[in-house]
Amino acid sequence: MNRVMRLAMICAVAATTTLLSRTALAQQQDFSKVEIKVTKVSGNIYMLEGAGGNIGASVGEDGIVIVDDQFAPLAEKIQAALKNIGVTDKPVRFVINTHYHGDHTGGNEPFNTAGSTLIAHDNVRKRLETGGTAGNGGSIKMENKPAAKAALPIITFQHDVTVHLNGEDIRAMHFPLGHTDGDSIIFFPKNNVVHMGDDFVRYGFPFIDVASGGSAQGIIEAMEKTTAQLPADVKVIPGHGALSNLDDVRAYTKMLKETSAVVQKALDAHKTLDQMKQEKILAPWEKFSGQFVNTDAFIETLYNSLTGHKGEFLKHN
Ligand SMILES: [Zn+2]
Repeated sequence: MNRVMRLAMICAVAATTTLLSRTALAQQQDFSKVEIKVTKVSGNIYMLEGAGGNIGASVGEDGIVIVDDQFAPLAEKIQAALKNIGVTDKPVRFVINTHYHGDHTGGNEPFNTAGSTLIAHDNVRKRLETGGTAGNGGSIKMENKPAAKAALPIITFQHDVTVHLNGEDIRAMHFPLGHTDGDSIIFFPKNNVVHMGDDFVRYGFPFIDVASGGSAQGIIEAMEKTTAQLPADVKVIPGHGALSNLDDVRAYTKMLKETSAVVQKALDAHKTLDQMKQEKILAPWEKFSGQFVNTDAFIETLYNSLTGHKGEFLKHN
């Protein structure tokens, strides 16, 4: 075996190990220990935290609408926590998915089986139906199996959809090529709340699913458009992390713009991905480096995002 071949094999093994350990991590998570924390955001809007993405909930006399549903084993606890708020005994009428990832759609099947109607962007249904690889086009890679039929959204939309319930026009709007190619941001205008899905997260450098049509540029655009239109005191539910405000969103957008500009400059100077990593071009933003997306993984993300490599965009109907 020559040196190049051996190196290729070692890389392949290393990549598989990373993939397996991430998958194993998700499977081994002990959901029996997870407690659902409920926070009143404003009026009749609540935020639920457990494991996976934050849930936004409109709870009122017409029933309950939730945005995202974490993981299947938590569905009963989520339903119990909603009942515990003490406003209604009614089950969840509608579930809106912000995007297709399993930590936001894992509860789709049990909620649907219990009578909820699932709503999401066209590409959420497509990606759930087919399964496929999520990743940053580099070291982060996760395999998704095709979802069960009962987990697929029944109502899908291309641009936006509005659910009129509890005296509010709850609007889900699609923003293209952000965290994935099927993201929606959900607005609760009467209560002055917005759920940003994973276009806005608080865990450091964001995971951008470039392999599923996501891009840093799309997230920046979505954040700039929404911050320009939303009231200054809007309450922001992030995809992951603590309840936020527009200043938090602006700081996050600034980081994305600055780091994108640095990688773009390196691309213009014809630097390779390895050179960018070796030169630690994102060192000034090191505090955003996390366990999930470290600085090198974020350089890969921006590199692939800006060059259009590794992206795979699903055409709309
Ligand atoms: Zn996600």
